[in-house]
Amino acid sequence: MLPALFLSHGSPMLAVTPGPAHEFLAGLGAALGRPRAILVASAHWETAHPVVNAVDRNRTIHDFGGFPRALYDLRYDAPGDPVLAGQVIDLLGAAGLQAGIDRVRGLDHGAWVPLMLAWPAADVPVLQVSVQSGLGPAYHLELGRALAPLRAQGVLVVGSGSFTHDLSRFRGQGQDVPEAPDVAEFAAWMDTALREGRRSDLLAYRHKAPHAAAEHPTEEHLLPLFVAMGAAGPAARAERLHASTAYGVLRMDAYAFR
Ligand code: ZN
Repeated sequence: MLPALFLSHGSPMLAVTPGPAHEFLAGLGAALGRPRAILVASAHWETAHPVVNAVDRNRTIHDFGGFPRALYDLRYDAPGDPVLAGQVIDLLGAAGLQAGIDRVRGLDHGAWVPLMLAWPAADVPVLQVSVQSGLGPAYHLELGRALAPLRAQGVLVVGSGSFTHDLSRFRGQGQDVPEAPDVAEFAAWMDTALREGRRSDLLAYRHKAPHAAAEHPTEEHLLPLFVAMGAAGPAARAERLHASTAYGVLRMDAYAFR
């Protein structure tokens, strides 16, 4: 059975800049094989209630500003899967989460940047489900839990965010500058809690993890981690697939939950 994944997408420059996270993602497709479809909960689609996109073909959304032209020329026009989207909405509804449908929206960069590296042919159907940033980790764990049956159908559930995401310190940094100590402390606490399966501590990370509010001034880039955790079921174990730091402050860690 497929694991559920948490992937850090970092800066959109990840798509075109060699580095440890770029290389990790470039090898991920071969390591996992070809899923039947991929459902991404991305930090870059925030709505008040869950929404699932249902299109025949995804357009590529360049939802960022101030980056080089080359990024805006990239396209990842993966097919969608409207039938599966309907099933996702039914699963969410059965869990008490009334979900809407969006028949226009394509893929934001939280989805297409990592998928372009991992499955460059863009021939695996991709769907997105939105996150509800104000509703916190426990809610997103439940959202993920509702999606768990999809894994048995060969659907890869991916939470795409960033293991740390303090953008106030990101701009103007070189990709390879040394990691800030507080970033390392937060990531180490999270990794230990994940390895030890301390779910209640993780749900309370904002109060328990060192520097949590500094690394995540807003929560939307960490909430996809809880979606992935939930999608792997209550007994799921976390396996760290990748760890690196970009620009000194963006942790690019990736986890499999199975
Ligand atoms: Zn992002």
